[in-house]
Amino acid sequence: MKYISTRGQAPALNFEEVLLTGLAPDGGLYVPQTLPTYSREEIASWANLSYTELAFKIIQPFVAESIPAADLKKIIDDTYVDFRHPAIAPLVQLGHNEWVMELHQGPTLAFKDFALQMLGRLLDYVLERNQRKVVIMGATSGDTGSAAIQGCKRCKNIDIFILHPHGRVSEVQRRQMTTVLGEKIHNIAIEGNFDDCQAMVKASFGAQQFLPQDRQLVAVNSINWARIMAQIVYYFYASLALGGPHRAVSFSVPTGNFGDIYAGYLAKQMGLPIEQLVIATNANDILHRLVSSNLYSKHPLQHTLSPSMDIVISSNFERLLFDCYDRDGTAINTLMSDFNKGDVKLKETAFEKARALFDSYAVDDAATVATISDVWESAEYLLDPHSAIGVKAARECRRNTTTPMITLATAHPAKFPDAVKQAGYPKEVPLPHHMADLFQREERYTVLPHDIAKVQQFMVANIKA
Ligand SMILES: *Cc1c(COP(=O)(O)O)cnc(C)c1O
Repeated sequence: MKYISTRGQAPALNFEEVLLTGLAPDGGLYVPQTLPTYSREEIASWANLSYTELAFKIIQPFVAESIPAADLKKIIDDTYVDFRHPAIAPLVQLGHNEWVMELHQGPTLAFKDFALQMLGRLLDYVLERNQRKVVIMGATSGDTGSAAIQGCKRCKNIDIFILHPHGRVSEVQRRQMTTVLGEKIHNIAIEGNFDDCQAMVKASFGAQQFLPQDRQLVAVNSINWARIMAQIVYYFYASLALGGPHRAVSFSVPTGNFGDIYAGYLAKQMGLPIEQLVIATNANDILHRLVSSNLYSKHPLQHTLSPSMDIVISSNFERLLFDCYDRDGTAINTLMSDFNKGDVKLKETAFEKARALFDSYAVDDAATVATISDVWESAEYLLDPHSAIGVKAARECRRNTTTPMITLATAHPAKFPDAVKQAGYPKEVPLPHHMADLFQREERYTVLPHDIAKVQQFMVANIKA
């Protein structure tokens, strides 16, 4: 399988190359040139597979030219060993045909573990095979950084530098990053905000001469195709558990950068019967505004109770636009450069396609908290604020009660104690036992000013030979 850029100006890559790249040189994102598709009979034949067996079926065609089947099997088995629940992605019922799929059973209690545990193993495998070393540089407002560190902590060939805004991530989130100790793991607390961190990462990717000659930067944010690929699996797993593919199911997805729900869209394109895909956003609702009124416009960032969905633009949405514009890279190039200058409208046929594929709903902090209380009252089930947004949007958007509606529960409530407290939950939410001592563990991080030269100097001084 080859991967092509959404802007049509970059050479096609194979899986191994795409794994080691961030953005395409033309500024686009890589997508598979073609998708494998499956009949209902084929999908039905997977009904009894375990999560890891199913992951192998789904992922194998995407990587076949780069990774032999036996090696891929080992990578996948290893990817999910640190997940606490034997089902990996268990379903919990909230009401009649209303479900949540818990994607927070991984080591850092958020769904990003699904992709980043696999990314770490994939990178280690290809780097070891090629005797190469790389540098991971990423910015985080919380969940991505800890999942990336956990996913890559055992990698021999990766130095990892994660920037977070000093004093602006929750204590649980910070400790999940800073208590993973290793000579190749570096947490940098920047005296600035998340956008400052992200801007320095972006600028560093654009000018990598500061690195030693034999190194390059690798992206761990969801522009990396391998992350999307790993997330397709659980859509199939949920459907098969609830009577699919002979019956359609719907999904509601707490959405920020559009990586997670884009994987659901791909599952549908691959043949999985999905009736509705609901984009659930917080007050940062660029996608809801687009789907409801065909205006793609940036609003200032708002800080909400669901910080992992606080975005101004959703980077992966370009991958969907590419399909809505019939894979016309030139049109996407023009659209994105217009969007850099101001608000844009999609062309009518593209907008109709997007609107036929997705429902959307925006949930503010008050409704988020009310939903946490509601679900606790009715089902005695505690949602985190991101998952609560998913449940609320699902309830507002579902067209019938005969199709199972599955909300992706993207984080564990112990990660966001403030929102849970505001919802009137009377106790402390205990951390799962594997991290019960998180607040006693030794932390290690370096505070640096918002100064890219200083950050790069620090990196060069700490890259291991
Ligand atoms: C990252 C994240 C999201 C948003 O996922 P996207 O793929 O960026 O849309 C939602 N919830 C939680 C808890 C997250 O960490």
